Amino acid sequence: MSDKQPPRPDASQPAAAKPKSGVDCATVLEQLWEYLDSELLPEHMQAMRTHLALCSRCYPHYDFEKAFLEAISACQCTRCAPDDVKCRVIDSLRRAGFSPTSSKSTG
Ligand SMILES: [Zn+2]
Repeated sequence: MSDKQPPRPDASQPAAAKPKSGVDCATVLEQLWEYLDSELLPEHMQAMRTHLALCSRCYPHYDFEKAFLEAISACQCTRCAPDDVKCRVIDSLRRAGFSPTSSKSTG
């Protein structure tokens, strides 16, 4: 007597898209940062790219994280203080009587 139903692998899967690219959604989301940093093998990069192009669930994650990385890289371009801070420092020094240039005020 076997009233235990065996698991059916071909049962209707949830709506998770699983294209024939070799990677599933969990793998894509797990390795998304490495993909964006191009740290994966070329064939795996291609599999990730294919999945992201086909899967509407993973693409928003990719789009968000890509924009996030772009914002970070944009910030790293200006490591020195912004001009606004420089102006405020120089303005404070001038008020304290310090003049960066030896300009004689005749008046
Ligand atoms: Zn997916």
